[in-house]
Amino acid sequence: MEVYVDKPKCTGCHHCFDVCPVSVFEMKGRGTKENPDADGANSDTAPEDAKWKGVIDPAIKQKWENVKDGHRHFADKSDGSSGGISAAVNGPSCILCQACLIECEGECIHITDDTGSKFQSIYK
Ligand code: SF4
Ligand code: SF4
Repeated sequence: MEVYVDKPKCTGCHHCFDVCPVSVFEMKGRGTKENPDADGANSDTAPEDAKWKGVIDPAIKQKWENVKDGHRHFADKSDGSSGGISAAVNGPSCILCQACLIECEGECIHITDDTGSKFQSIYK
């Protein structure tokens, strides 16, 4: 199983981190302006166009930046409950329970199973 997060779309809501039963995800910081990957945000298998380069997808930012749902959207660092950016550091452990796929605010989780079938998160 291969799992990655399309980083420019990640709001930092922590939903994937909270629901995954096999700890595929870790929350990372958004690094610095000079080095966006300083905190390891790109430590999963995301392809080049889905890596964190310090730029948030403008459509996702517009959708979520003012939503008051208890999450710190696009905050640089995780405070343990929200903020930061998700990296799927443990993709091979995924059991395709699909919990993260219906919880991802940014609709930015991509999974490819061992047969090559692809799955993408769609927010419930
Ligand atoms: S589908 Fe995979 S990555 Fe997502 S919550 Fe389930 S086990 Fe974790
Ligand atoms: S659920 Fe989606 S938007 Fe929220 S932290 Fe995880 S990858 Fe990012």
